[in-house]
Amino acid sequence: MFGEDIAPASTVLGPGEDAEVAVVGGIHGDEPSGVRAVRRVIESNPDLQRPVKLVVANPPAVASHRRYLDADMNRVFPGDPTSPDRERRLAAALLKEIEGCGVVLSLHSTHSCDDPIAIVSRSHPSVQGLAARLPVPHVVDPTPCVDGAFPVSAPVLSIEAGRQHTEEATENATDIVEAFLRLVDALPGTVPEADPTYYTMTDAVSKRPDSDYDLLVDNFEPVEAGTTVARSDDGAYVADEPFVPVLMSETGYDDILGYRGEVAGETLAAAREAWGVPPVE
Ligand SMILES: [Zn+2]
Repeated sequence: MFGEDIAPASTVLGPGEDAEVAVVGGIHGDEPSGVRAVRRVIESNPDLQRPVKLVVANPPAVASHRRYLDADMNRVFPGDPTSPDRERRLAAALLKEIEGCGVVLSLHSTHSCDDPIAIVSRSHPSVQGLAARLPVPHVVDPTPCVDGAFPVSAPVLSIEAGRQHTEEATENATDIVEAFLRLVDALPGTVPEADPTYYTMTDAVSKRPDSDYDLLVDNFEPVEAGTTVARSDDGAYVADEPFVPVLMSETGYDDILGYRGEVAGETLAAAREAWGVPPVE
């Protein structure tokens, strides 16, 4: 209907066909670490004990090494199968592809931070418990300020594996895929105890697309009121109240510097209370 027929590229590994677990890379075409991690898992021919679906979400953007072609796929969920925008059609097709999967791991990389970050919605407890056990120091709920993101639309545990185009991001992504597969009993073995801090993204910090910015703070390092957060040709952005910088970078997004956040808790139980959702039995 709209030219070329495009769809996520998907394969099921392991015994059986009905995968209830999925690993997704390549929602953003310029973040190769996730796709490489998915390929490494396929090539290592792992001894899977249950079927796992492996998906490259946006093959045309991956092939052209661009974040997206028509629209940022991670802002257009649930998508639309009849849209002229490729990413809106792919988003709808991806949700169909993971139907029946109770847990999905989605891999990204970032301009903001070397440490891996887990992003889970307050509305999806099945993936919060997994995020709490992965080797990541920070778990973030984006619900208040991100519309149309994959982890808000489905039981998706989204990972920012590290800095875009670094070997370290690919290694982190591969380690996280392996830990995830152990936690869902797809691979044998145990995962060491983890002890992340939980955060809530509270709002976005806008920037002018045509200005150069110097970011003067570090992600996840609390900022006091009165701190100069960034400088640009137009002046300084000074914090008027304390916050925790989340996914802030000079070059990651065109129109925002990143997000302000706050600590939701040091345990998942405390974070769920802060998020206003009932305790998990
Ligand atoms: Zn991404």
